[in-house]
Amino acid sequence: MKPLLNVDSALKNILAAVRPLPSESISLAETLDRVIARDIVSPVDLPPFDNSAMDGYAIRHQDSAAANAANPVALSVVMDIPAGAAPTGVLETGQAARIMTGAPIPPGTSAVIPVEDTDDDWYKGEAAPVPATVRLFRALRADENIRRAGESIAAGHRIMAAGTALGPAEIGMLAGIGCAKVDVIRQPKVVILSSGDELVDVHQTPAPGQIRDSNSYSVAALVRAGGGVAIRLPIARDSLDSVRALYRRALEIHPDLIISTAGVSVGAADFVKTVLDELGDIDFWRINMRPGKPLAFGSLQGIPFFGLPGNPVSAMVTFEVLARPALARISGREFKRKTISAVTADALKSDGRRSYIRVTISRSDKGFIAHSTGIQSSGALMSMVLADGLAVVPEGTEFLPAGTELTVLLLRSLD
Ligand code: AMP
Ligand code: MG
Repeated sequence: MKPLLNVDSALKNILAAVRPLPSESISLAETLDRVIARDIVSPVDLPPFDNSAMDGYAIRHQDSAAANAANPVALSVVMDIPAGAAPTGVLETGQAARIMTGAPIPPGTSAVIPVEDTDDDWYKGEAAPVPATVRLFRALRADENIRRAGESIAAGHRIMAAGTALGPAEIGMLAGIGCAKVDVIRQPKVVILSSGDELVDVHQTPAPGQIRDSNSYSVAALVRAGGGVAIRLPIARDSLDSVRALYRRALEIHPDLIISTAGVSVGAADFVKTVLDELGDIDFWRINMRPGKPLAFGSLQGIPFFGLPGNPVSAMVTFEVLARPALARISGREFKRKTISAVTADALKSDGRRSYIRVTISRSDKGFIAHSTGIQSSGALMSMVLADGLAVVPEGTEFLPAGTELTVLLLRSLD
């Protein structure tokens, strides 16, 4: 019997064996949740010019020093600068320019007085002509309501790091700096395989002794959530020919990663192991974790391969712990695990392996509390449906009294 392999060593071996995919150039509109292949340096200032933060009047702020509602100061209006227009001259002492939000301020401007603080009432909706004079009802400080060129981002600055997944704000910013095409890491194509005489697909009715294949659906969803493109192939039967045909078909797709579930445990029919040995270079590990002790990892004709355990919870937990970081690396994606620290609500038993206990999380004034979801069988997928996270019981622990502090890997955001 092989010795048990530590979870961290297994992950280290896995990450050393996978590489980020090459990049491709795609249109900005297609980039949501894609990963940028290189740092983004802004070629421009944003905003590109000094501009008004308000609809109002550009003035020299010194001119407003004596203004208040009882004694307004009158300035002559010499320019009108709607959005999209450029100033036509310099603003002198005693002058004002009507200006719209975002329009460039004329040279000489040191503040913009909002229209509400003047006697002009264009903001009430009338398309008013530009008045000859405007009265100011208050004094302004230097720079009030002026947005300076480059205050959001300055030309030459790195604004996003390679490995960032693009969200709505990043995409808007890339549009703002004129980035119409973006170099992103190619999305990994992941083939998902399942095999077993007891399995039928979701639309079929199981005969006595059969169950529906849930793993290929949960694993495909995990792959998509991790940024991959998931391709599920039909279930193979427990025969050498059927399993071999399935793996050949997987390889013909030229995927970037292959994930199978089942067939790697002691006592499982040997077909999967036989085919893996024929087609690739695969290690069969016994990992010091619960659930999910048996795991195969290696490469099939150069393509990274995971053989996850067949039990539905084991398949999902081993994906979370070992395959998700690998998928992130292949995707060029910076991998950050979301963890919290929580204390256990009840006493827990473990078996000395590193255990990932499905828990719900509640809050108290002392912090987070982890409650077991109840049945922790590796076949009980409902424990994953209920779980907010996986509480990690360190190896070598067999009993944890209530109130023990544990790290919890979050599976969803807490609300
Ligand atoms: P095996 O590794 O083939 O011995 O499978 C271990 C356990 O996982 C058995 O109870 C299988 O029925 C179950 N199992 C295997 N594959 C799947 C699947 N795709 N969906 C649901 N359960 C599965
Ligand atoms: Mg089986």
